[in-house]
Amino acid sequence: MDLVVARPEGLYCPPGNFYIDPWRPVDRAVITHAHGDHARPGSRRYLATRASERVLRARLGAGIALDAIDYGERVVDGGVAISLHPAGHVLGSAQVRLEHGGAVWVVSGDYKTEADPTCPPFEPQACHVFVTESTFGLPIYRWQAPEDTYDEIAAWWRANADAGRASLLYCYAFGKAQRVVAGLAGASALDTGPVVCHGAIDVLNDAYRATGVALPPTHRVGDIDATALRRALVLAPPSASGTPWLRRFGDASDAFASGWMRLRGARRRRSLDRGFALSDHADWPGLLRAIAATGAPRVIVTHGQVSVMVRWLAERGLDAGAFATEYDEDAAEAGA
Ligand SMILES: [Zn+2]
Ligand SMILES: [Zn+2]
Repeated sequence: MDLVVARPEGLYCPPGNFYIDPWRPVDRAVITHAHGDHARPGSRRYLATRASERVLRARLGAGIALDAIDYGERVVDGGVAISLHPAGHVLGSAQVRLEHGGAVWVVSGDYKTEADPTCPPFEPQACHVFVTESTFGLPIYRWQAPEDTYDEIAAWWRANADAGRASLLYCYAFGKAQRVVAGLAGASALDTGPVVCHGAIDVLNDAYRATGVALPPTHRVGDIDATALRRALVLAPPSASGTPWLRRFGDASDAFASGWMRLRGARRRRSLDRGFALSDHADWPGLLRAIAATGAPRVIVTHGQVSVMVRWLAERGLDAGAFATEYDEDAAEAGA
């Protein structure tokens, strides 16, 4: 029996009678992480990691019925043993491991294989069937070491500050912004000036801190005087673009931190000064490594570049298929 099948509401586990990251309200939902396309409101009961609890309650409502469990903890539901394991994507992100009748299935959720100071690293789980995301599942996607990207951001910030203008960096509010702040601290770049965060980001910074992730100090714009603002790094969600909130930064240099910046023309189309390729998803080599590490003979590919990945895996002798899903991090998080 298949432990996960695609239904109109989302990915469904028939023996356990629950969904994983459903896009429609259901009775019981296991949530891999709190990005808006995976954690949707309206379900009767949720199961997720303890580390994602604050962000889930902030986004879905403080009163949701949520069972929060630790990484590696097992709960049994309808004869299915469920456990959640680090996915390395954002705070609290998890792969869902299901065991039933001797079969082990793992649903990856979103994941990355690079180091991230703000969440525990991806932990491969041996399984018979691996359901993998494939957001950047094309051979052209290969990330440079994140440290090199932090150094590039630091150099851009420094040059702007020395020229007396603010550095406005767009990034997803949940995950990317906190990773950038922590990464710049690691690159010893924070003496350049203050880090100013849009309110949508700052509430998430607080959720990280409250969950035990050390982030350096960040500021709201009202706390910083006009002179210091000209040396500031300003983090804002893409939805802040074109809003009056930006006026106080005057003639700022602007940039975007996203895996999509790896695509030729992506920066120019948004008419930004700079683009920094920094993704919370695995690149092509990372996806292939993660898939191989599970030892799974059967792989089911979900959102992203599905057909190329399915063909590539099938050519290497794996039983490869796909689920059609309704995950779209850009649509869900760009407007956060
Ligand atoms: Zn995500
Ligand atoms: Zn996703």
